[in-house]
Amino acid sequence: MTASLLIRNVRPNAGPALDILIENGRIARMAKDIAAPAGVAVEDGRGEIAIPGLVEAHTHLDKSLWGQPWYVNEVGPKLLDKIDNERLNKRRLDLDPARQSARQTVQSSLMGSTHIRSHVDVDTDHGMWGVEGVMQTRDGYRDIVDIELVAFPQSGLLRRPGTLELMDQAMKAGCEIVGGLDPCAIDRDPKGHLDAIFGLCQTYGKPLDIHLHEPGEMGAFSMDLIMERTRALGMKGKVTISHAFCLGSPDPALVDPLIAQLAELDIAIMTTAPSRSAAPPVKKLLDAGVRVCSGSDGIRDTWGPYGNADMVERAMFIGLRNNFRRDDEVDLGLDVCTTGGAAVMEIADYGLAEGKAADLVIMPGESLTELVVTRSPKRRVVKRGRVVARDGVSVRTAP
Ligand SMILES: [Zn+2]
Repeated sequence: MTASLLIRNVRPNAGPALDILIENGRIARMAKDIAAPAGVAVEDGRGEIAIPGLVEAHTHLDKSLWGQPWYVNEVGPKLLDKIDNERLNKRRLDLDPARQSARQTVQSSLMGSTHIRSHVDVDTDHGMWGVEGVMQTRDGYRDIVDIELVAFPQSGLLRRPGTLELMDQAMKAGCEIVGGLDPCAIDRDPKGHLDAIFGLCQTYGKPLDIHLHEPGEMGAFSMDLIMERTRALGMKGKVTISHAFCLGSPDPALVDPLIAQLAELDIAIMTTAPSRSAAPPVKKLLDAGVRVCSGSDGIRDTWGPYGNADMVERAMFIGLRNNFRRDDEVDLGLDVCTTGGAAVMEIADYGLAEGKAADLVIMPGESLTELVVTRSPKRRVVKRGRVVARDGVSVRTAP
């Protein structure tokens, strides 16, 4: 669904005030004092700031507990504890992926996200349940958010026979991206895991987005194998490494050569700016020319109780985690959550410029930095020229 709209007196990216004329879902003109064409709705921008739609570049729509009874988390400390606990309890907790993904999608839209990349579990206990559910939401809520799916072997790929065949089925079903997970720490077979997922990328001509939680030397080793395959298979610009905690290692002799290669191979990094000690250094990556995006990751799921799908808050977390204090540094966090995500998701018609899709958020504030700091709930969210959320109320509801 596309629409026409004239937004008066708004400040694109906190610049000078002007009008934005949207025709058929695209930004047709940005200028002062545009005459309203007949029949076109007019929205008063009130001198507020317009930013391009927020990009939730890493989440798990299929597994949020949003709207379900409160889940008391008593899960063990290891990654495998969380993986097994979730898989074993999904049906007991009635985590219907179609309903849960719809709930999180509406919440994301309310907070200003116009694009979502969602990893979706593929495992031998649940088969295509998650993929089919999130695809139902992708198709049913296309008017408020664009969603792309990553087929994600959350429980491991080779350690659970049958998963690779399901991953293949998920790609056939229309997942846009191949996922992967800790080739050393979970599958304990880095070569086998990476050859399998890169094989799927080759078969379907799709990009890769791999979860890499492995720390220090182990993570660096896996990253090296990923870069080796990216180079050999001509997948420059088609690989994202999510989390990449090893880049937060304090040893420059380990990290610097990795960053140089990431830049050379145009491999993107996704960071949630986690509170744990090792996290990718955002400014250093950007300075090296690496594309960086961010995401909420799991929102109120069996892994943890936090999250509200607010990518402006995520920009603040990036600032806090990276010790950003200057305005130009804080603004980098917002860049990561907008244009950075769009670059990673290869959204061609993204941005506040004539000819681009009219996906934007209007928020009160003096500067971009102030937007991040105050995170006003007074947001107007425009998707393809239509106001889809206003001050916390969406045009859509979820079951
Ligand atoms: Zn994740």
